[in-house]
Formats: sequence, structure tokens, C-alpha cells
Amino acid sequence: MAKEHFVRKEFKNFTPDDPYYEGRKYPEPTVCEMCNATYKDGRWSWEKPPKGVEANYTLCPACRRIKNKYPGGVLKLTGDYLLEKEEEIINLINNKAEEEMTYRPLNRIISIKKEDGAIVIETTSPSLARLLGEAVYRAHKGELDIRYKEGEKFVEIFWSRILEDKEGEED
Ligand SMILES: [Zn+2]
Repeated sequence: MAKEHFVRKEFKNFTPDDPYYEGRKYPEPTVCEMCNATYKDGRWSWEKPPKGVEANYTLCPACRRIKNKYPGGVLKLTGDYLLEKEEEIINLINNKAEEEMTYRPLNRIISIKKEDGAIVIETTSPSLARLLGEAVYRAHKGELDIRYKEGEKFVEIFWSRILEDKEGEED
């Protein structure tokens, strides 16, 4: 069962000039000096900046989070089911994240780590952590628990599935 503790709203605790804020405004065009994403028409994309226009350079919110190891979301996967499906689940997560980044350059995985039998994925945005958690839940069932923190600008997501050794005793 999926549980949700808070209804998602726009990142209300961000100030408009917060460098991590995905909706922050920049001079146009602005190019990220790490990943070359371009800010134009009020959004970040992978388009090249228009020719003959002097661009402003900065770090995009995603690269800033990657550089400062400051995740916007964490997805923690646990349960002995992972022993059997780990590779499949990590592939699913990487594929989903790659697809998402094509459309939304600020949604990226910062790291995937194994810790005491758990897999911990840090993402640059709360929405990507959520999207990945929901993808695992849709494909592999189990339990999903979504917890927004700090007024919804950070999300912790827990997914777990235990291998059932007693057939038919699941409630
Ligand atoms: Zn960047």
C-alpha cells in the first residue's frame, strides 16, 4: 500500500533567489558551466543558446546540488526481495532517470549506494525521487511510504518488499 503523509504543494519554503530552487529566474540565456543546460524562455533545457547572443554562465540548480551533495530527495529500498531483484531494480531506476532527464534537465540522480543490504538513491529533486519510488512500486509491488520534509522541499521515500516464505499467509 502506498501511504502519503503530506499533500504535495509547490516548493513554498524556497525564496525566489534560492540557488537550489527549480523555479528561480535567471538572465536569458544562461548556460550551466558544468552540464551545458540552457535557461531560456523561463526554463532549463538541453537546447543550445541562440547564436550571437552573449550568455550568462552559472551552475544550474541540479549541478549545484550534485557539487554540494545536497539532495532534494532520497529513495531508500529495503527488504530481502532486493537480493533477487537488485540488478533489475537498479536498471529500472537508471532507465527511468535517464528518460526523465531528457525532458527535465534538473531531475537527476546524484548517487546510488548500497548500505547494509539497502539501496539508497539520492536525487536532485523531490519529484524525481518520487517518480523513481513509484516506478519501483508499480513494477515490483511491496510497500511505498512518501514523507515530505522541510515544508516539501525535501522528500524521503521508503520502499520495501519482503520475500514471502509462507505462501498464503500475507494479509
Ligand atoms: Zn548543470
